[in-house]
Amino acid sequence: MKFTQLRLTGFKSFVDPTELRIDPGLTGVIGPNGCGKSNLLEALRWVMGATSAKSLRGGGMEDVIFSGTDNRPARNHAEVLLTVDNSDKLAPARFNDAASLDVSRRITRGAGSAYKINGEEVRAKDVQLLFADAGTGANSAALVRQGQISELIAAKPENRRRILEEAAGVAGLRARRHEAELRLRGAETNLDRLQEVIDEIG
Ligand code: ATP
Repeated sequence: MKFTQLRLTGFKSFVDPTELRIDPGLTGVIGPNGCGKSNLLEALRWVMGATSAKSLRGGGMEDVIFSGTDNRPARNHAEVLLTVDNSDKLAPARFNDAASLDVSRRITRGAGSAYKINGEEVRAKDVQLLFADAGTGANSAALVRQGQISELIAAKPENRRRILEEAAGVAGLRARRHEAELRLRGAETNLDRLQEVIDEIG
């Protein structure tokens, strides 16, 4: 799955709408300390459905919203839009005819996040699965945070396994299995209840 464009508005230090074209091949981001290089990577992780405030270097989810400077007021919302090429047809069926996908996430103070694919509202899970199936989710090994290598070395075996699963593209399957197991448990509880009712009647 190829990323072709990233647009940020009110996200961390990117208060004004900022568009970046992502060309094929390796992309490097250079600039002085504190200019926002890591914020760009965080924007990518965030739009793909990252939910851990820790992985976004913030205390709370709303910390991604521009918090203001001496001469600019804080914003009330942040939005990131990622355009991906859909020529490998990995999108959910209802979007799969589109040549490219505009995946967006917007957070508003006090109202949480809303996700869209090509302008249509979707669940966080739809976005997370879209990228997990493509082997490039928010926790993908393709995005290396500062300090992540030393974390990896010190990681417990099961956490290391999760990273390998993400790289192998099976993270989406794991999430689906978890969902199926929850549904199965719900069905078993219903069956138990039904049996109790039948026993009572009988
Ligand atoms: P370094 O090379 O030192 O790692 P960097 O280029 O990766 O730096 P970032 O860490 O991406 O820089 O950006 C840090 C800047 O973003 C800081 O100036 C910080 O004040 C600003 N920043 C982070 N969150 C917000 C926010 N919510 N609102 C406004 N500015 C923010």
